[in-house]
Amino acid sequence: CGVFGMIGVVDAANFVALGLHALQHRGQEAGGIVSYAPEHGFNSARRFGYVRDNFTKHSLMETLPGQLAIGHVRYSTAGSKGAAIRDVQPFFGEFSMGGAAIAHNGNITNADALRRELIERGSIFQSSSDSECIIHLMARSLQRDIPSRMEDALRRVEGAFSVVAMTRTKLIGVRDALGVRPLVLGKVGDGWCLSSETCALDIIGAEYVREIEPGEMVVITEQGVESTRPFRAKSSRFCIFEHVYFSRPDSIIGGRSVYETRRQIGVELAREAAVDADLVCPVPDSGTPAAIGFAHESGIPYGMGIIRNQYMGRTFIEPTEQIRNMGVRLKLNVNRALIRGKRVILVDDSVVRGTTSRKIKEMILDAGAAEVHFRIASPPTAWPCFYGVDTPRREKLLAATMSEDEMREHLGVDSLKFISLDGLYRAAGEAEGRNNACPQYCDACFSGEYPVEPADMIEKGFKL
Ligand code: 5GP
Ligand code: SF4
Ligand code: MG
Repeated sequence: CGVFGMIGVVDAANFVALGLHALQHRGQEAGGIVSYAPEHGFNSARRFGYVRDNFTKHSLMETLPGQLAIGHVRYSTAGSKGAAIRDVQPFFGEFSMGGAAIAHNGNITNADALRRELIERGSIFQSSSDSECIIHLMARSLQRDIPSRMEDALRRVEGAFSVVAMTRTKLIGVRDALGVRPLVLGKVGDGWCLSSETCALDIIGAEYVREIEPGEMVVITEQGVESTRPFRAKSSRFCIFEHVYFSRPDSIIGGRSVYETRRQIGVELAREAAVDADLVCPVPDSGTPAAIGFAHESGIPYGMGIIRNQYMGRTFIEPTEQIRNMGVRLKLNVNRALIRGKRVILVDDSVVRGTTSRKIKEMILDAGAAEVHFRIASPPTAWPCFYGVDTPRREKLLAATMSEDEMREHLGVDSLKFISLDGLYRAAGEAEGRNNACPQYCDACFSGEYPVEPADMIEKGFKL
């Protein structure tokens, strides 16, 4: 998901809409905005579909007045699939000291247990979303102000959270102690904003100030930014898959360009898994920077052998398997004139179920390629993510049930190689590779080493 908040500008909701539009790649199912103006109170709008199709309409935007607003774009991980508008964030609660709205990116790993406890004690849930627990935990807190109630609530929550919240006068940002999901602070004129990624600062002309740190809470008013560290400091475990796929390539994470990391993954891959061929071709768009790096390092020409229809969304994020299956053809087509007779290296970011790779291989062979070699910009995805990326159950992950050789066979390609974990860490700027005693990132979907025990899943029978 993507979160964005803005304080201290006229019609803050318009800024939020633009920010969410720049974060659309983080969630395409639905979006929502809550705003506050003293004379109008809190207002909210939640809609299915793209930001640009909803939050551009004057008739809707004029219902969201005020100098303070937050918003969310949704990509469902926990909670019901397919959709109910009641699951669309931000969530809102009325407390004795006033209202508050929250927007959450991440996934709460003890949400089932919390929900059971809260329902037993009288909470009435409105949605099936894990994030709603935060509002109910806040309602039960005895603290006198909303930021302290949020602290209380988030201390009971396990897993990954980057939260943007608002009261009548404050914009609040929090990251979990491991800093699994991103959150950055920006400044525009007299106003401040919080965003999942820096690409959303660029769109509103905001200046990048800094990242919210793991375990940090910032409370922003018209007077400025106040920072506290309510959560126990641990060494950070940012999601390495943000670098590989999730974030936009024009965003900066930890002072590092996402594009540059992806390009460097291609360089590392070309060193680790060289092969004689005529053409390096990305699976667009997610494989493009790595393919550029691969071509550069190997000296093999780069070409657009697959053309993407720009009017389709990301296939993976379409919620049902059936739509996902059709998606590949709706979205990608082979550039036959370029492919015919060539030995082609295809570079993609990841293999999850293997459906994308299989279809693409067929399309490339149909177009008359002489050989097809897959090079993948992440290690084999053998474990599900429980921290906010929607990987399927373990049985559906190709790499969970097959060796690399079996995967090559299954995909029917001439060769298949994945970048090593160390190669990925080097590409992300860790010259010494992965520190196995204390990994610098979360890489659980590749290594099976979960930095936070996924309590709900273990209760449901998941085996580490
Ligand atoms: P597959 O067809 O192997 O199940 O999916 C792999 C494709 O899905 C890749 O091309 C990748 O770009 C895309 N993808 C989109 N979202 C995600 C995600 O959340 N996780 C992973 N691993 N891949 C994703
Ligand atoms: Fe990111 Fe993978 Fe960790 Fe999930 S399991 S947070 S996708 S690195
Ligand atoms: Mg892709």
